[in-house]
Amino acid sequence: MQLTRRHFGLGLAAASLSGCVAGTTAPRVARPDPTLDPGLRPQPNPAYDAWVAAFRERAKARGITEATLTAAFRGQGFLPGVIERDRNQTEFKRSLEDYLAIVAPDEKVVFGRRAYAAQKRALAQVEARYGVSADILAAIWGLESYFGTKRGKIPVISATSTLAWEGRRGRFFEANLMDALRIVQTGDARPDQLVGSWAGAMGHTQLIPNAYQQHAVDFDGDGKRDIWSDDPIDAFATTARFLSNAGWRRGLPWGLEVRVPDGYSGPVGRSARRSTSAWRDAGFRAATGGGLPDLGNAALLAPMGLDKPAFLVSHNFDMILRYNPSENYGLGVGYMAQRLGGGGPLRADFGPDRHGLTLEDRKALQRALTRRGFDAGTPDGVIGKKTEAAIRAYQAAQGLPVDGIPSRALLQRLG
Ligand code: CA
Repeated sequence: MQLTRRHFGLGLAAASLSGCVAGTTAPRVARPDPTLDPGLRPQPNPAYDAWVAAFRERAKARGITEATLTAAFRGQGFLPGVIERDRNQTEFKRSLEDYLAIVAPDEKVVFGRRAYAAQKRALAQVEARYGVSADILAAIWGLESYFGTKRGKIPVISATSTLAWEGRRGRFFEANLMDALRIVQTGDARPDQLVGSWAGAMGHTQLIPNAYQQHAVDFDGDGKRDIWSDDPIDAFATTARFLSNAGWRRGLPWGLEVRVPDGYSGPVGRSARRSTSAWRDAGFRAATGGGLPDLGNAALLAPMGLDKPAFLVSHNFDMILRYNPSENYGLGVGYMAQRLGGGGPLRADFGPDRHGLTLEDRKALQRALTRRGFDAGTPDGVIGKKTEAAIRAYQAAQGLPVDGIPSRALLQRLG
């Protein structure tokens, strides 16, 4: 089996879009967080309780003590909101343009450059040992937890036991629940520290318990493999070790945005790899104008078409996908790494969407709706459910046909 950290994509997007905010001072005893939505607080469910009772026997047979089980399950329970999020992942299968607008907007790049600078020494030390470049590690940190500021606050024992009980990927989540209990039993973390995303990913770089048990490192030598505290160095090292164990090659760039030669009609996609010199011979150049760096065997990605931003990606891009198997995620990490390293925005334009609106048009539409009292949410240019609802409400109030579709006419009407 592949060494994937998750069997699903965009867990972070789900977490950040659902408004999860980092917990800073966790209580000593796990208890429902009053700021979480009600579906993320334990609800009565006799079938789940029966499953937990049977699971506890299986855990004891695997060496988990009664004391660990009692401590770990105290205050935990069935979280219907976790199942909801698990089932609604298609909502997050977004276009690359929308995805980048969510995970790597300019204001996040600005914030991230400061966070990157503050961790430069730690990242350089980790890079020296594992060979994974500092900008890639910082980019993963940025995408996974907004540079440590949004680490998630959903109790991991509740989340993994709910998903193990629900059963769609029951074995995967039961294995993670078991590894979470081992974390408690060995004293790596207190039960109340085990909080994270809806799918049990924890800490600065959002590691699931399985990945923690396989790769966690005590890099600063304080005796704990600590991915939970405010200091991210163990999390950086753990993620670097994960990528190194997966097969990361030191010094190999992840890839870059490229200029596709006019009339190109050759292969696109990760299954069609060619040597860097073959791409050069075919007329490919860096989007910034220079020649191509050596990427070894590389593949051409153009998720929105060859006339939109296109990328050549290396073997190391595939290693990023082991962390989260979504090409948008891999491109998001690569793009953020480039921005953190001082690079500029993408050179190619995504152009207008199918409604004829550019990203800036969509942001202007959202701001205008909100200004008129129809809350369109964060003006990020991503037309989600909230913006659609605001358009519908505005259309209804204006006596227009109510279709919830953004358009240039609507933007002009809103002024
Ligand atoms: Ca440590």
